[in-house]
Amino acid sequence: MATEHAAAAINPWHVAQRQFDLAADRLNLDPGLRRVLREPRRELTVHFPVKMDDGSVQVLTGYRVQHNLGRGPAKGGIRYHPDVTLDEVKALAMWMTWKCAVVAIPFGGGKGGVVVDPKKLSMKELEALTRRFTTEISVLIGPERDIPAPDVNTNAQVMAWMMDTYSMHVGYTVPGVVTGKPISLGGSEGRAEATARGVVYTIIEAARELELDLNGATVAVQGFGNAGSIAARLMAAEGSKVIAVSDSSGGIHREEGLDVERVMAWKREHGTVVGFPGAEPISNADLLELPCDVLIPAALENVITERNAERIGARIVAEAANGPTTPEADAILFRRGVFVIPDILCNAGGVTVSYFEWVQDLNRDHWSETIVNAKLREIMVKAFSEVRSMATREACDNRLAAYLLAVQRVADATAMRGLYP
Ligand code: NAD
Repeated sequence: MATEHAAAAINPWHVAQRQFDLAADRLNLDPGLRRVLREPRRELTVHFPVKMDDGSVQVLTGYRVQHNLGRGPAKGGIRYHPDVTLDEVKALAMWMTWKCAVVAIPFGGGKGGVVVDPKKLSMKELEALTRRFTTEISVLIGPERDIPAPDVNTNAQVMAWMMDTYSMHVGYTVPGVVTGKPISLGGSEGRAEATARGVVYTIIEAARELELDLNGATVAVQGFGNAGSIAARLMAAEGSKVIAVSDSSGGIHREEGLDVERVMAWKREHGTVVGFPGAEPISNADLLELPCDVLIPAALENVITERNAERIGARIVAEAANGPTTPEADAILFRRGVFVIPDILCNAGGVTVSYFEWVQDLNRDHWSETIVNAKLREIMVKAFSEVRSMATREACDNRLAAYLLAVQRVADATAMRGLYP
């Protein structure tokens, strides 16, 4: 698949560092601060055994990286995927630092991953993997230190196992050690939809600025998991026509619009969107180039590159995924007038409601979904407006504007704290 090929060729850590360098140059950042912020604070690699159902023992590799702790404890998801690398996790951890700073929530950046294809595991094996991985990274995590959350191929059940494992170690229940938990274990109302809801709040703001009516607008979504499928559903609720969606097996296209609820039901039953009746098949690469109003990449990194950026057919690219666009592609999209809502702003709704969940856990409180969504909207709209003001003032693209805001906030915090010892 073209996307996988492109992703394999480009190192996300190099992309993350180049994006940081562009901002550091423009901010004329102090060289010492620059050296500090350019590298992760901590990188942990673990190799751990898991007993499989057939009695054999597999040794898996996992990572937890903390990029920066200047503004608060590390925060970031755990990914289970066969292509996970340390460099990918480092990039994702750095992006988390900037993301938390863009929306001004008091966290630093972290990320974790295990090199595994969870689709090949039974529930029992998945639980054993999760509990042992949690144990291995327990030297880093904790409600005041580093708080994991779901990411690609992890969900509320995985977070419940992580919370239980950590709690067993310390001898009492610690809901605040992970977010994205089931509601029954201290999860927040609205967390499952939060990433997608935040994406849609930023699309609404962008559409307002571009005078694009979302009612009847056409939308294509790459990746039909937590972020992508719910974003598709919420865009349909705005009256938009979702004309194409995809997952790792391929995509489906219907120019008159897909019934998103029915596609979700099809995916639940068949494990993929492919084969959905009444739609044409489309490759992941072709989906990205469809003429449409809004393109939502919601799968993996490096899918919009210098190879296809000239042919991206959307007016708005809303980055639900982390790192879908390379710096070379950014320059091309900016020149072509494509309105990119950068990942560290666009998908920050997930970590924002994770922050709400953590606050509720620490206070033994529970907020209504109405309150959660209203607070989320306020934060996303404010961050969007700050990024757009910066882009206008600096005459730059939205990604650089978001980086300028975020890097300055983290640099200020780091400088104020001073160097220890
Ligand atoms: P998920 O596991 O729920 O869904 C991932 C989707 O991407 C699946 O439909 C999968 O089939 C598809 N996919 C995987 N490889 C693909 C490929 N090569 N081509 C096309 N599709 C492919 O994961 P998610 O939580 O929805 O995460 C998706 C993206 O959103 C990631 O970049 C993640 O970092 C980002 N994100 C997620 C959250 C969150 O709260 N879950 C928050 C912020 C950002």
